Order: sequence, then structure tokens, then C-alpha cells
Amino acid sequence: MTATLIDGREVAATLRRELAVRITTVDFSPVLAVVLVGDDPASAVYVRNKDRAAQNAGITARTIRLPAATGLAELLSVVKSLNDDADVDGILVQLPLPAGLDSAAVISAIDPAKDVDGLTPTNVGLLASGRPGLVPCTPLGVMKLLAHAGTELRGARAVVLGRSLLVGKPVAALLTAADATVTIAHSRTRDLAAECRRAEVLVAAVGKPELVRADWIADHAVVIDVGINRLADGRLVGDVATAECAAIASAITPVPGGVGPMTIACLLENTLTAALRRRGLPAG
Ligand code: NAP
Repeated sequence: MTATLIDGREVAATLRRELAVRITTVDFSPVLAVVLVGDDPASAVYVRNKDRAAQNAGITARTIRLPAATGLAELLSVVKSLNDDADVDGILVQLPLPAGLDSAAVISAIDPAKDVDGLTPTNVGLLASGRPGLVPCTPLGVMKLLAHAGTELRGARAVVLGRSLLVGKPVAALLTAADATVTIAHSRTRDLAAECRRAEVLVAAVGKPELVRADWIADHAVVIDVGINRLADGRLVGDVATAECAAIASAITPVPGGVGPMTIACLLENTLTAALRRRGLPAG
């Protein structure tokens, strides 16, 4: 068989259009504050893309640029001032922070109601306990792609490759909440290929180029590839060998153009959600 390609660009564009329409129906422009510390070029590109996508959706993006030498106390005081700023709906601290800055301390300082990355301990706990909070953007994007592909999750055997706080763990929590039977595999898993072969739904988030091969995939599996890996020749590939796995899977996300575009769209959705909840309005 040849798998259906799940087009993340199209799904993300539709989501962004829907958000722009929803934002025209409220009498305020949600405000997203992005804190960028240092001059990591990849982070600068992400932040520029976030700015542009936010403006296009009718969200006011404020970028706070701080020098790489910024100390923890100063950064925490910037976060506190954004927490206290009634105009700000969403706060995102761009990761990774320069070496020496304690990311966990900075993330924990964000007001959970404005934590549009869903990474504060409060939002992690809400997700783990199945209560409404703000959900990390990439995992939210993964779930939207699965829904778009019409994947039946109830009772499905799902395997998540990777157990990071940013992707693997929240994806596993969301799949569990959707009634899938979830296995989390990682670098200490004894036989990764065997675990993957049992998956009706496979989500790969390891950061290892084309780790997942065709003989790891069950017939008709739905494969979501979160990985973004730059090869020495400049090519961008995922954690899944897409072409060969597409011969076995029923649906698969490409890299680029799969999960990647969903992340920013979901950030915008989280910003609107935070803005509505802060005003006591239904967030849908
Ligand atoms: P991470 O924090 O480095 O976590 C990687 C996870 O994969 C860890 O749990 C690790 O296991 C596991 N792992 C590493 N090598 C492995 C191997 N050979 N076999 C099995 N498991 C292995 O990475 P992350 O932040 O979750 O990101 C994962 C990938 O997704 C990266 O390529 C990243 O660029 C990409 N990403 C994409 C987006 C997007 O918007 N599309 C967003 C975020 C991340 P241990 O826990 O045992 O160390």
C-alpha cells in the first residue's frame, strides 16, 4: 500500500484561518509575549515566524530580546513583569536558553494561566490528571493531525518513541486521555523495533534521523513523525524513513510539512484560549 500523506501545512493553514475568524468576533486582540534570550540563529528564525503568524491571525506579538549574558534574576523579573501585565495573555520563553540559565526555574515562574507552551508544573499536572489547562503546542498539533487523518484512537495500540517533557510525555498523556493503550519507548527500551511493530499509531519524537525503518512498522499503522533533523548535506529529515515506511503505513506525516507547521498554529490557538479564559469567556 502507499500511505496517505498527512499534510500539516494544509491543516495548520486551516487552523490559522479559523483562529483569525474567531479573533474577529472578540473585541480585543490577544497579546503574546515571546522572550528571546541570546542570539541563537535557529531561535531567532522561530521567533520571527511566530511573530508573523501571530500578526496574520490578529494576535499582537511582543518580542522581548535580552542579551545572552542576562542573569537568572533579571530574566525572572522580566517574566514576573509579564505575569503582572494585565494586557499580556500569553508568555513564551524561547528554549533552549543560553547555557547557565536554569530553564526549569524560568518556566516555573510563568503564570500558568499565561503559559501558552504548557510547560509549567501546573499545566503538566493538569494534563496528567486529565483536567483542562494549556497543553504543549507540538503534542496538541500531533493530536490534531491524528484527528484530521480520521484515526480511531479509542482502544488503539499507540507507541510513543521519546519521553521528553516537551513532546513524548505530553503526547502519551493526550493519547491516554483519548482512550488509546499507550506504550512509551525511549533510549533504554530493549527492543524498539518490536515495540514499534505492535503500534497501530506510532508517534516518533527522538531526534535521530530516520531511526524508524519500514520493518518497524505494522501494516496500516498511522505514523506521526515529530523529529526534525538536519543532515550534513543540508537535508531536513524526520525520525522516520518516510518513503520506505509509507509503503507499509496507512497514513504518515512528511518532514518538513507535517508536525512542524502545527506547532506555531497551536501556539496561536493556545494564546486565544488563554485570552478567553482570562476574561472568563468560553474557550471552545
Ligand atoms: P529530547 O528532549 O532530546 O528527547 C528525545 C527522546 O528520545 C528522549 O526521551 C530519549 O530517550 C529518546 N531517544 C533518543 N535517542 C533514542 C534512540 N536511539 N532510541 C530510542 N529513544 C531515543 O527531544 P525532544 O525535544 O522530545 O524532540 C524530539 C525531536 O522532535 C527532535 O528532532 C526535535 O527537533 C523535534 N521537535 C520537533 C518539533 C516540531 O515542531 N515539529 C517540536 C519539538 C521537537 P531518553 O529519555 O532515554 O534519553
